[in-house]
Amino acid sequence: MKDITKKYTNGEVTIVWKPNLCIHSGICFRGLSEVFDPRKRPWITPDQATSDKIVEQIKKCPSGALSYFMNDEG
Ligand code: SF4
Repeated sequence: MKDITKKYTNGEVTIVWKPNLCIHSGICFRGLSEVFDPRKRPWITPDQATSDKIVEQIKKCPSGALSYFMNDEG
């Protein structure tokens, strides 16, 4: 399987998504549907919530498909 990594940023935090790891639990889009919406393309729109909310939601991803880094940490 190809190791795909997608990145989405609001300029402050970057959301990293690895589709191969996603188990489609729905936790991200039930928790923060402004940012995570699988019906949209792109399905992640990080400018729709604060970075704090985004980070909090990413930490709940059960599979490790979602991770993040703060842009100013290099
Ligand atoms: S919470 Fe994680 S595993 Fe669940 S749908 Fe979102 S990205 Fe996929």
